[in-house]
Amino acid sequence: MNVERTLSIIKPDGIEKDLIGEIFRRFEGAKLRIVAAKMLKLSQEQANQFYFVHREKSFYADLVSYMTSGPVMVQVLEGEGAIEKNRLIMGATDPAEADPGTIRSDFAESIERNIVHGSDGPLTAAEEIRFFFSEEDICLRRP
Ligand code: ATP
Ligand code: MG
Repeated sequence: MNVERTLSIIKPDGIEKDLIGEIFRRFEGAKLRIVAAKMLKLSQEQANQFYFVHREKSFYADLVSYMTSGPVMVQVLEGEGAIEKNRLIMGATDPAEADPGTIRSDFAESIERNIVHGSDGPLTAAEEIRFFFSEEDICLRRP
């Protein structure tokens, strides 16, 4: 399998619940290395743009309001099959449908307030990483 990079976000509810360490531990335990990370508060405009693909959905306004309600922790994860691996660690969008032991099953309270974001494919991963980081922000790690 190829070494890939993916974008992960710990959403405002994950920060509020003090889950940064727990979530980083799960990534590192699964050999997903954190090669860039920063904490920030998304502006309305950034959140609108980041979730632009969902602009026609009924939950769009609520989603943007949730994502701007507090700080988020944005990271680039690197590892073999990182995109799919991160999606497996996160679990299904709706915590009621997420497998036990996944982040969303263990900690999320609803389909909206679901603790983490992860890129869903190679193209979105590249685009989302570029949205937050320049190439110089990403640290090379020993193999
Ligand atoms: P993410 O893109 O955040 O990693 P995802 O790929 O599992 O999540 P998407 O379908 O891309 O799910 O939805 C983006 C986000 O919008 C979800 O993570 C969730 O916060 C919110 N969302 C999705 N579906 C609903 C819904 N039916 N009602 C309310 N919020 C929703
Ligand atoms: Mg998505």
